[in-house]
Amino acid sequence: MVVPHDTLSQPRIPEGWASNLCLTIVDPQTKKTQQEIMLSLATKTIGARNLSIHEWQSKGLLKKYGVDTLIGEVAGTPMEAEKKAADVLKNGSGKLVVKSQIHAGGRGLGTFKSGFKGGVHLADNAKQVGELAGHMIDEVLVTKQTGPDGRLVRNVYLEDAAPVKRELYLGIVNDRGYGGPVVIASTEGGVDIETVAHTNPNAIMKYPIDINKGMSHETALKIASELKFAESSVAQAAGQIEKLYDVFVATDATQVEINPFAETMDGKAICLDAKFNFDDCAAYRQKEIFAMRDPLEEDAFELEARKFDLNWVTLDGNIGCMVNGAGLAMATLDYMTLEGGKPANFLDLGGGVNAKAAIEAFKLLAANDNVKIIFVNVFGGIVSTAMVANALIEALKQVPIDVPLVIRLDGTDCIEARRILRESGLKYTEAESFEDGVQKAVTIAKWL
Ligand code: ADP
Ligand code: MG
Repeated sequence: MVVPHDTLSQPRIPEGWASNLCLTIVDPQTKKTQQEIMLSLATKTIGARNLSIHEWQSKGLLKKYGVDTLIGEVAGTPMEAEKKAADVLKNGSGKLVVKSQIHAGGRGLGTFKSGFKGGVHLADNAKQVGELAGHMIDEVLVTKQTGPDGRLVRNVYLEDAAPVKRELYLGIVNDRGYGGPVVIASTEGGVDIETVAHTNPNAIMKYPIDINKGMSHETALKIASELKFAESSVAQAAGQIEKLYDVFVATDATQVEINPFAETMDGKAICLDAKFNFDDCAAYRQKEIFAMRDPLEEDAFELEARKFDLNWVTLDGNIGCMVNGAGLAMATLDYMTLEGGKPANFLDLGGGVNAKAAIEAFKLLAANDNVKIIFVNVFGGIVSTAMVANALIEALKQVPIDVPLVIRLDGTDCIEARRILRESGLKYTEAESFEDGVQKAVTIAKWL
């Protein structure tokens, strides 16, 4: 779906709203494309509609597909960390990095709520590893990407430390503007690529790849040499880039981000960090990967919604939205934002709204403390809105709602649907149209 963003005055992506909700996005203020926004929003889309996995799992995947990785172990307690550190120290370089495992980046520069600084630390003996793990495990790490609430660290990854000469950036994303995968590379990689994207966009190079032909060896060589690998290292670096592209395609990833993609002192390319997102629609054929889902890292509402096949994305506003169809749901969020309202969620009930789905949706909305008003926006194409009206009445009998309700039922049988609602004794505000419904919801929300 393409929304004419240039005609709209508001920023088009509400905070935390996934860039993968099928819009062709250009922010009219910054003129950034979806891809650039993705770089800067990075994991604000956590848990939204693209599966995320932990770094240690990503490293396992890289290894499986032949990408060079450093040895590493995952540990869930300081004692286990100390024990496993001995092996990594013995079989590696003699130094290792203790890395907090959360589904968000920016860990290196993050701070724990305890005051302990840094979610990634270098250590050279097992005792020190145990101590560092003690500062991280069961503590909440706040990074640029977690928001102020931070995330609870449950595991640390102990990875052999590479002798780093330069930190580069390498990402592969599905770019809607281009209509295929694009490799994003920069010599300015490391902990703060978001700042580079803002302050020095020219330092970010892009290489569109023909999805049917795949990545040619020439392209991989070009990327490696533009990342300024020494002549003697370009072939090895290009080989890693080609393999990364293979993983991206083979795993139905929507994003692979290696930051840093490092050059070691001896000129070798190595992936020091790895962040993957996978297309949720590919879950049926990527069973092994989807088994890595970590429910503890995901939004509770999104998890609950998934159980009932409802497409839900938590947002940060106060107007709960219950809409049928992804297109209408996105248009609702867009128009609501344009009118100055703040949606609390994206929710697509699916085409044929029934009482069961409506009950679960109302339960989710009722359980969300941020929701101060609910806007039901259903357009009956194939589905009869009279049926929807009955389903809503049934659902509201089972789930008492104590916030104002605005209902727009339009399309097939809407005259009958509105009569049913009016005669039901339900307390709600009737909307004539999509626009009317959004405006009423936003106006009421402003009074609250
Ligand atoms: P984040 O992006 O969440 O801050 P990274 O995995 O990128 O976490 O780690 C932060 C920094 O720590 C990296 O930019 C790099 O400088 C350093 N680092 C991470 N892993 C290693 C490693 N295995 N060897 C050496 N340095 C590392
Ligand atoms: Mg990183």
